[in-house]
Amino acid sequence: MKTAFERHDHSACADAAMARATDLAVARGLRLTPVRRRVLEILLERHRAFGAYEVLERLAAEGLGKQPPVAYRALEFLVENGLAHRIQRLNAFTACQSAHADGQAPAFLICRECQTVDELDAATLRAELSAAAGQAGFAVERATIEALGLCAACAGRA
Ligand SMILES: [Zn+2]
Ligand SMILES: [Zn+2]
Ligand SMILES: [Zn+2]
Repeated sequence: MKTAFERHDHSACADAAMARATDLAVARGLRLTPVRRRVLEILLERHRAFGAYEVLERLAAEGLGKQPPVAYRALEFLVENGLAHRIQRLNAFTACQSAHADGQAPAFLICRECQTVDELDAATLRAELSAAAGQAGFAVERATIEALGLCAACAGRA
């Protein structure tokens, strides 16, 4: 499987994600306004997380709005509709790279050198976490799984 850490034709990723967003908007009757669309395009430029402030600066430079709520609301919209994810550890946002099954948030792999973020299917991990927590009499309702480390390219450079 191709990962975000390998060299690849990223325009294919971005085009596929944008097509998925357009389909989703039609299916759910969502309004993909110019600002929302542009924010998604910015997030899709690379496999990494973007801070809200960085997104805001880009929007301002392009004349799409310079009030913080403009960027925050667009990012919130994308997260709520599964088109982007919030990376807690970086307090930043990354475009979703694939459709996930209902409520199945992926695990995130974050390279601490190049800041590349990749998604990992976390169904098995989550089941194991729930089972282990269940043994302790705890019912997991949500869990954020973010792993920080080095990608192969950065590890090779070190
Ligand atoms: Zn890509
Ligand atoms: Zn995703
Ligand atoms: Zn890296």
